[in-house]
Amino acid sequence: MAVVLPGATIGVLGSGQLGRMFAIAARRLGYRVHTFSPDQDSPTGQVADHEITASYDDLAAVAAFARDVSAVTFEFENVPSATVDALGADVLVRPSGRVLHTTQHRVREKEFLASAGIPVAPFAVVHTTAELHAGLQRVGVPAILKTASFGYDGKGQVRITRSGDADAAWTSIGNQPAVLEGVVDFVCEVSVVVARGHDGTLIDYGVIENAHRHHILDVSVWPARVSEATAREAARLARATCEALDVVGVLCVEMFVSRDGGVIVNELAPRPHNSGHLTIDAHVTCQFEQQLRAVCGLPLGSTRAHAPAAAMANLLGDVWAHGEPAWAAALAMPGVKLHLYGKSEPRPGRKMGHLTGVADTPDAAEALVRAARAALDPLARS
Ligand code: AMP
Repeated sequence: MAVVLPGATIGVLGSGQLGRMFAIAARRLGYRVHTFSPDQDSPTGQVADHEITASYDDLAAVAAFARDVSAVTFEFENVPSATVDALGADVLVRPSGRVLHTTQHRVREKEFLASAGIPVAPFAVVHTTAELHAGLQRVGVPAILKTASFGYDGKGQVRITRSGDADAAWTSIGNQPAVLEGVVDFVCEVSVVVARGHDGTLIDYGVIENAHRHHILDVSVWPARVSEATAREAARLARATCEALDVVGVLCVEMFVSRDGGVIVNELAPRPHNSGHLTIDAHVTCQFEQQLRAVCGLPLGSTRAHAPAAAMANLLGDVWAHGEPAWAAALAMPGVKLHLYGKSEPRPGRKMGHLTGVADTPDAAEALVRAARAALDPLARS
């Protein structure tokens, strides 16, 4: 395939923080970046060469965007398939429309994983209340009902603890196609970020351990504090998934680790992921540069780490509850790095930025980022 060399322009569909960090990586390597989304003065637009503000349904605008760039990638994958088609036959689109089609729909994603022999939680596909009741018989309670489309950060999900709650659960998700899953009794959640080049080369960063709050990622720690056998299995499953899905780009595989050390795949994201943000400060080549290299047909970069351990703490809008955070207090801590996404309105639950810390052990790295985040809001700590 033709290699897209530095100096060329890369298009990013979506304009949030993932696109921003991609654009920063791309510009470091001398590329230009155009971003396309319905928003203005967006996190990606602020650092891109050109920000196009139009609806994803505006296929003429999508086609014009594609004509001006040498390759297109995504930071937001819930775009209509007509939009992906409108990107046209002429421009390179990575990951492919087929990968997006599979991963943007929970039913297709689960069925793909199961058919590829990847372990997943017991599940049933649900289109009607009758199917929901039949599914509960098979999967048992407690269970989680997840809408097939547009679910992320716990949105479009409801837990069913008694079979009597089924009808209310079905109404609460808006009677739409869904996946019913058995609740996994996990000891921890982990992810593996894998990059795959156009020639099939695979590279990963090992296993990252993730703690969530209110269904939103809160703190990630690398390397995950799991046994060597579990870490090997998690990396094997992530690589196998990436190959089976034929991804050219970056894939994040989110997983549950069960009490016996077994690994079950929960979700896929065919792009850099929040849990991989620590690779910016902790690894030779971060996940965003890997995305760029893969999209452009360049060799993938080394995933060697600069330190034995690293951690990341998300900064949600809640950190602004008592006014402007005390940035200097966190930045004074050795090994702590601050990343802010250029969003002006710190709404509760909104991802505004993150802190990264490197240290000699995972425990020390986690303690460091938690202390740095606490120092931002002395009132919340007291
Ligand atoms: P998801 O949107 O599928 O990533 O789910 C968000 C979070 O809900 C996960 O990170 C888990 O903490 C929890 N969760 C989702 N599915 C399950 C499950 N089958 N069993 C237990 N917890 C789950």
